[in-house]
Amino acid sequence: MAMAGFASAVAPMPLPTEAVAMMVAGHTATPVEVSLYDENEYQVGTMAVWRDGSTDEPTTAEVKRMFRCRTTHRQKLIAKKTLAMLADVADHYPGKTIEYVSVYRVGGNESATSPHRDGRAIDFRIRGVALKEIRDYVWKTYANVGVGWYPSEQFIHIDTRPADMTWTFLHGVNHYHPYWAELARQQPQTVAQVTHERRPGT
Ligand SMILES: [Zn+2]
Repeated sequence: MAMAGFASAVAPMPLPTEAVAMMVAGHTATPVEVSLYDENEYQVGTMAVWRDGSTDEPTTAEVKRMFRCRTTHRQKLIAKKTLAMLADVADHYPGKTIEYVSVYRVGGNESATSPHRDGRAIDFRIRGVALKEIRDYVWKTYANVGVGWYPSEQFIHIDTRPADMTWTFLHGVNHYHPYWAELARQQPQTVAQVTHERRPGT
């Protein structure tokens, strides 16, 4: 991990302009440590993801391995925008572990248009955080996303896509444009920390 730049910025002496700028931008000058728990194989892991969703080479290999299709064991690097959202969610709930249920899926049962098949989607929950809270945070923070709420299965689906979409999955059926989505975007916007793919005006 490239942490050296940030460490030098907190030296107890007058700082050059560049260092001050780095302190101000410190939030973006280091990758986010994303703590993960694999719901399928009961394994923990962490990965350092930059706020634009990029990762260094060893981490990229680890991302592909951890998020591989569990039916076919095929690997695909998931979309950079989706990784950026994951990093932001991790940063928004510091000290919490993202428990992921499903990411890349290319098995025969997966529909041709599935964002999981395309490597753009993550199904997850965070222990100690209400699903509704995560759902509303993602929906009101990002544009060009799909957000699905699965209250019975206890996870949130997020993906990146050209046009916004929301749904609640209940009794085996997707109910699109649910009321929670309308409510969440009526609330005052949170302070923007990430510019990547944020909704216009936030
Ligand atoms: Zn999903």
